[in-house]
Amino acid sequence: MRAYFFDMDGVLFDSMPNHALAWEEVMRQYDLPFTAYDCYLNEGRTGESVIREAMWKARNRDATPDEIKTIYAEKSALFNTLAQQSGGTPTIPNVAEVLRYIALCGDQIWVVTGSGMRSLIDNLNTVLPPVFQQDRMITAFDVVKGKPDPEPYLKAWERSGLKKEQCFVIENAPLGVCSGKAAGLTVYAVNTGILTREDLLQAGADQVFDSMIELLEFLRR
Ligand code: MG
Repeated sequence: MRAYFFDMDGVLFDSMPNHALAWEEVMRQYDLPFTAYDCYLNEGRTGESVIREAMWKARNRDATPDEIKTIYAEKSALFNTLAQQSGGTPTIPNVAEVLRYIALCGDQIWVVTGSGMRSLIDNLNTVLPPVFQQDRMITAFDVVKGKPDPEPYLKAWERSGLKKEQCFVIENAPLGVCSGKAAGLTVYAVNTGILTREDLLQAGADQVFDSMIELLEFLRR
């Protein structure tokens, strides 16, 4: 028996392109330098912390609570508009095959995400193979400290009832990789975005794959 802990954004859902577009556009309106690449590097951090860091870099001062609230609200609204325009958030190519294979092997499938987006979490079993169980999900509602803190993955591991050697993290973001490694687990990174392999290796990934097909081939060995 094994357990696979799947991150959600960038691993199950291809949500990062719209997040990056929305961040870039809103930051530009406030004259804060922030690229799509910055967005991918920072994936997993809270909106507040992203805005405060950009403000320190650009103006050498902290962002006011009002600025944080306004900028984040505009970014979220734009993300939702973009998602609606494209008819919902697509899933990552071929992740369905990976899920089916793991389910066929009788192994546990978990979702471990810092997201609290009900629209995505509640739709997992309809847009992907129905392999997800309510009691095998760790979301923003279950943890005090998010990634890169190990808490989310430690919680999944404790609830799995398995040994750490039997648990495998599937991540796409450097901070998520850090979280899994800090929890003492094996981390497989799938580079589904615009980062380099080195970004994920430096974060501590045990293996980096360029696609879900590559990961599937590896699991089948
Ligand atoms: Mg992710």
